Amino acid sequence: MCHAFLNDSRFYTFLFRIDQDIAAEVQAGGCLCGGVLHSARYPRKPRGLRGALDESYEKRLSFCCAEEGCRRRCTPPSVRYLGRKVYLGVIVILITALEHGLSPKRRHQLIEALDIWPQTLSRWRTWWREVFPASRCWRQTKGNFIPPVAPCQLPGELLGRLSGGDLLRRLCHLLGLLGPVSTTSWSGYLRVAIDPQKM
Ligand SMILES: [Zn+2]
Repeated sequence: MCHAFLNDSRFYTFLFRIDQDIAAEVQAGGCLCGGVLHSARYPRKPRGLRGALDESYEKRLSFCCAEEGCRRRCTPPSVRYLGRKVYLGVIVILITALEHGLSPKRRHQLIEALDIWPQTLSRWRTWWREVFPASRCWRQTKGNFIPPVAPCQLPGELLGRLSGGDLLRRLCHLLGLLGPVSTTSWSGYLRVAIDPQKM
């Protein structure tokens, strides 16, 4: 595979710890009604890279309000899952970002290794070019990039513009930036820092 960290279980443990920090912050903030949030994880079954993932990847961290009559579901942003996509966010970013930079053979190998269907790839492209640019997350963030990043350049150009010396840092930065699009049941501002040096 093209990047060693993709097969390194420490990378996924690191992302899980960030998700735990984010979840702790969201839980501490409580429900919109003022109620206490109780753990209500739900099952996930991410595809590809099974060998590098432990059982922490079989559950999405989530909460439910304890207040009778509210019971609102509250799923914190995640740096692991990109909404309901079955592949991890890191794969969705890398495969679409590297699309133009990889030789056809290399790209084919990666897609084979990860068992990704052509229809899935085309959905991801559409997501980056049409769905993500319309999201509140991108509308709030895009102004930070001068000159602007055009939707047709997503996510590769964005990955290249983010701060951080190596791909891993920029990738972690992007996963953090994408956190808000990974949930529809929570919105707010997070203080969780993502530093891959702590991996
Ligand atoms: Zn509530």
